Amino acid sequence: MNKWDFYTAKEIKPKGWLKRQLEIQAEGLSGNLDKIWPDIRDSAWIGGDKEGWERVPYWLDGFIPLAYLLENEDMVSRAKKYIDAIVSSQKDSGWICPCDEDKIKTYDTWAVQLISKVLVVYYECSGDERIPLVVYDILKNYYELLKNGSIELFSWGKFRWFETFIAIQFTYKRYKEDWLKELAKILREQGADYNDFVEMWKRPVNHWKLETHIVNIAMMLKSEAVSCDILDKPYTDNADYLRSVLDQYNGTVYESFTGDECLSGLSAIQGTELCAIVEQMYSYELLYAYTGDRKWAERLEVLAFNALPATLSEDMWTHQYVQMSNQISCQKFHGNPIFGTNATEAHLFGLEPNYGCCTANFNQGWPKFALSAFMHNDNTIINSMMIPSELHADGVHIILETEYPFKNRAKYKIASDKDFTFIVRVPSFAENVKINGNTCEGSDLRFDVKSGESEILVEFETVPYFEKRPHGLNAVKCGTLIFSLPIQYTTKMHEYVRDCVIHKYPYCDYELIPQSAWNYGFSSEDVSVITNGVSDIPFSANNPPVVIKAKLQQIDWGYEERYDTVCAKIPISTEPISDEKQMELIPYGCAKLRITELPLLKK
Ligand SMILES: [Zn+2]
Repeated sequence: MNKWDFYTAKEIKPKGWLKRQLEIQAEGLSGNLDKIWPDIRDSAWIGGDKEGWERVPYWLDGFIPLAYLLENEDMVSRAKKYIDAIVSSQKDSGWICPCDEDKIKTYDTWAVQLISKVLVVYYECSGDERIPLVVYDILKNYYELLKNGSIELFSWGKFRWFETFIAIQFTYKRYKEDWLKELAKILREQGADYNDFVEMWKRPVNHWKLETHIVNIAMMLKSEAVSCDILDKPYTDNADYLRSVLDQYNGTVYESFTGDECLSGLSAIQGTELCAIVEQMYSYELLYAYTGDRKWAERLEVLAFNALPATLSEDMWTHQYVQMSNQISCQKFHGNPIFGTNATEAHLFGLEPNYGCCTANFNQGWPKFALSAFMHNDNTIINSMMIPSELHADGVHIILETEYPFKNRAKYKIASDKDFTFIVRVPSFAENVKINGNTCEGSDLRFDVKSGESEILVEFETVPYFEKRPHGLNAVKCGTLIFSLPIQYTTKMHEYVRDCVIHKYPYCDYELIPQSAWNYGFSSEDVSVITNGVSDIPFSANNPPVVIKAKLQQIDWGYEERYDTVCAKIPISTEPISDEKQMELIPYGCAKLRITELPLLKK
């Protein structure tokens, strides 16, 4: 049983900076992919001749909640067009993927798992009454094919088996039929058990393997939470154990793991694939809802407020395949890239740098995060994510005005037809917490709200600190935000056509070429925070909502051996070679070129 249930896109609406972020997304690539990208526009899912596997479901998984959250009628009708085409192509057997039924033995049924989840997302946004039966028929067909041995899980489907459980839970709730539990058991038995791979994660060799694949791992973290009830197994918080091993051997400052695109060790110059960031966010949203354990919510915040915006351009027309925390340049590699298995352009900002999975999949990041603002159970509502939002559900109306995570202040305007318990999740790093001006204790603030109108003001403080990173480096954090020294850059635009895909402004490729020094260390732990307020572009490099002033000195850092666009993993020297200078660090999510992990210099 979930500790907390989600609200739908009809009940939650984004406000303030979050709404602006979603509008930018709708005006950018997410809201236009079906017009410009052949794999969506001409997909086999809607009768075309292009990709008929994961890309349309991936895109819809984000495009649908984005359309409904913004109440954008044009986008809602375009989403429906895709869903109508998919639903009408379902065979009498229940099979729904664009693959002839005589070829399904060799079709990787990851697509079945994914489309069944996306149809649930569509139902939760639209309430379309056709969907429960469509999903029922997909799962029944999947069950029969797996049970009679017509198909087996292999490749991606074998490593992402748990994704089916979103649809299994949804269907079991409605129909309570035993074959759904049997399907769950078959998937669990044929699917990969990630506990078997832990030793591999401790010695990341950067060879391409499904077992160390960063996106598989990011998705997997939710597997126990989504499957244990239906499998009649106890919840053991296995995800926390697996995450701790991953963090110890491959952790990044932004609460993910290096994976370019398989686990690549503890290094600020290896990358993390964008698909992994959004999938890890979704995993943590479900883990928090299932367990109510605040550590998942706090880890989710770090991903959402740092890693996600960092790897998307400000206009959200372009993205990287991989981001690095010490990213001094985004220029094509001539020769071997620094990445384990990615190509030479994986860190450029573009339409589909390296490979198009992230182009289709990144869309779910912000919309699903926006849907995690409030959750509920019985007669209790929790503000799980302090993001500007409005809730309208079951006779309760709450407007949350806040600029968190840039300002530590949240005002709740409540109008309710009934009495209910309201909880505000305040992060555990918050200090000097105040309710309506009065100091209080605790992290989950509880309020007995009476019917009628009321107002609650929650304020707290966060203190900047240095976090120790591997290889003697340090990062500055304050609350949930990570701060980086931004590197000035010029851009080189690339417009071209490759494999019939047009790359043209604003969805062309961009190289970022550094124009300012990056070879600094911290000369002091003395830092101060300055809050500016959020501009029209929430994660803007030119108008960062908050900055940290720090004292730095240049050092002879050097480049990684055989590269002239990658800084050395470990600085050659930490002897200062310049005078101390006060400089501004900006949020990691605002800095496209940056140094985030620096040495603390000896006096
Ligand atoms: Zn990807």
